Amino acid sequence: MKALLVIMDGLGDRTDKTPLNVANTPCLDSFAKKGMTGLMYPIGIGFIPGSDTAHLAILGYDPFVYYKGRGAFEALGAGFELKDGDVAFRVNMSTVDDNWNVLDRRAGRNDFGMKELFAAIDNMEIDGVNIRVTHTVEHRGAALFSGANLSVKVSNTDPHRENAKVEHAGALDKSGEHIAKVLNEFTRRAYDILKNHPANKERAAKGIKVANIPLLRGPGECFRPEPFEKKFGVKAVCVAGGALYKGVARYLSFYTPDIEGATGTKNTNLVAKKNAVLKYMNDYDFVFAHLKGTDSCGHDGDFEGKKAFIERADKEFFDGLLDKFDVVVVTGDHSTPCVAKRHSMDPVPLLFYARDIRPDETTRLCEAQAYKGGLGRILGKDLVPIIMDYINKSNMFGE
Ligand code: ZN
Ligand code: ZN
Repeated sequence: MKALLVIMDGLGDRTDKTPLNVANTPCLDSFAKKGMTGLMYPIGIGFIPGSDTAHLAILGYDPFVYYKGRGAFEALGAGFELKDGDVAFRVNMSTVDDNWNVLDRRAGRNDFGMKELFAAIDNMEIDGVNIRVTHTVEHRGAALFSGANLSVKVSNTDPHRENAKVEHAGALDKSGEHIAKVLNEFTRRAYDILKNHPANKERAAKGIKVANIPLLRGPGECFRPEPFEKKFGVKAVCVAGGALYKGVARYLSFYTPDIEGATGTKNTNLVAKKNAVLKYMNDYDFVFAHLKGTDSCGHDGDFEGKKAFIERADKEFFDGLLDKFDVVVVTGDHSTPCVAKRHSMDPVPLLFYARDIRPDETTRLCEAQAYKGGLGRILGKDLVPIIMDYINKSNMFGE
C-alpha cells in the first residue's frame, strides 16, 4: 500500500478570507468529500513553528530531541556531507550599503549571477578553518565550516530584518569564540570580494539589487537519528526542490533525488514534480512531497499569489495524482498568514483520505471547515502513526 504526504509550506492563513477559503480547488474538494479534514498543531499549541522543526515533528521525530540547527539541513540539502565537528549555516545573499545596513535580506529574490557570486567566496581558509559555500535557489545557499575547535554556540550575522546593521557574530559560550572570530573575518573578506565582482556590476546595470554580503544563520551540527525506514518500516522518498526540505529528508535517510524543474519557489514546475511522485511511488511506500510557493507568497503578503499557487497546484499537481494512492494527506508545516507576513501559531488545515476512512461532513480543505472536521485537532507528531495504520505498517500496543 502506498501513502502520499504533501506539505504545502505555510499553507494556513488568517481572517475569514483565506487563500484556501476562496481558492478554486476541484480536485482537493473531491478528496475532502471522500475523506476527512481537521486541524494540526505542528509542534504544539501556541508554538510558532520554523519550517525545520515543523517538518521533523510532522515526519515523526520530536524536534526537542532531534533538532540540531537549521544549517545542518540546509547543508545536507545542498549536497554537502557533514562530519563530526563541522558547523553548517543557512546563507542569504543580501544587499547592504557601505555602512553594512541591510537594504534587502534577499537581494531582490533574484538569482542572476548568484552561482558565480557564491563560487567567488567558496573555499576560504581562515585560522585553520576551511569554509565551503554553495548556492541553492534564489538568494539562498549553505555554508560549511570545517576545522578544529568549532561549535554551534555562535550568534547569527543575519539581523532577520531590513534597515538594521549586519550583526557581529558573538560567542554564546566559551566554545564559540573561535568560530565567531572566523565568521566575522569570513563576512569581511566576502564583502570585499563581492562588492566589486563583475556579476554584481551586471546586476546593477540591469537594475537588479546587488548581492554583496552573505548573511549566515542557524548554525547546525552533525547528528544521525534512526532512519525513517527503520523507525516506521516503510521505504520512503522525498520529492522537493528547496534545500532545507531535502536536507531534513536526507537527515532522516529518505531517498532524496534531485528533481529537474523543482526549484523550491512559486515558479516551480509542478507537472515535473507530479511526474516524479508517479515515478518513485513504484519503488517506495511512503512519498513525502513538498511545495514551497504558498509560504513564499505568505511572507511577501501576496494573497493573490498564494491563492493562485494553490489553484495551480490543484490543477497541475494534485489532479491525476491523488487517486493513485491508498492514503493521501495534504497539509502545511505551519501557517504563514499574508496579513502577518511571517509564520504564526495558527493550526494548519489538514486533509486526510484513505480508501476505507470514515468520511466526515466537511467538503473542502480550508480554514472555514477544518475546525469541524472528523480528524479533530492533532499534533504534528501524531500524523505519521495515523498514516502507518492505514497502510498496515503499525503495531498494536499491548495484546
Ligand atoms: Zn515552512
Ligand atoms: Zn516561511
